[in-house]
Amino acid sequence: MRALALAIDGLELPAIEKISESQQEDPFQVLIATLLSARTQDATTLAASTRLFKVARTPRTMAKLPVREIERLIYPVSFYRNKARHVKATCEALVSEFGGKVPGTLEELVTLPGVGRKTATLVMILAFQSQRHICVDTHVHRISNRLGWVRTAEPDETEQALYRATDARWWPYINLYLVTWGQNVCRPVYPRCGDCVLVEDCPRIGVTLVGKSKKGD
Ligand code: SF4
Repeated sequence: MRALALAIDGLELPAIEKISESQQEDPFQVLIATLLSARTQDATTLAASTRLFKVARTPRTMAKLPVREIERLIYPVSFYRNKARHVKATCEALVSEFGGKVPGTLEELVTLPGVGRKTATLVMILAFQSQRHICVDTHVHRISNRLGWVRTAEPDETEQALYRATDARWWPYINLYLVTWGQNVCRPVYPRCGDCVLVEDCPRIGVTLVGKSKKGD
């Protein structure tokens, strides 16, 4: 993790981190951007979130938008119709159940429409500075298995295994470090092992084809 902390310095940050930083970790914007980000390119998530927040910046104002208007604003994020419905329903729940504020516990967050563990743990880490959660997405799941930190089949299983396998001081950083590494070096197909700071220690479990190194080796 120390090697990764140094290695990601200067690399492009994931979209949600950028939104979180630019909005001073505003829980509502982090929550909505994370909802939009599933299976969507970072640049698309960033552009869609920006368009949506220009029109509505609070749960109360966003809850009043028609679903069709939300669809129009967030298009072309993947599954934009479903996500628009979830965004509206989540905003309505925030207003009716939580006084118009994003709740600050994982247990409450997962009661919101469309909010699963991945979204909830990321909101806890980025917006509420939780030191007790690990957010596991496909990058974290893939890389921690390649590194041999865990041997798991599903992200939810990976989250629990990582709590056992890693030092708690790194939990809030695992998502940022591994997502950044996964987007730039340890990619889903053809990972660039020749450019990787972890290559000496990585057993590369499950890696059969390696991508071209930028160093040319
Ligand atoms: S050595 Fe290869 S498989 Fe291991 S973390 Fe680095 S890029 Fe991923």
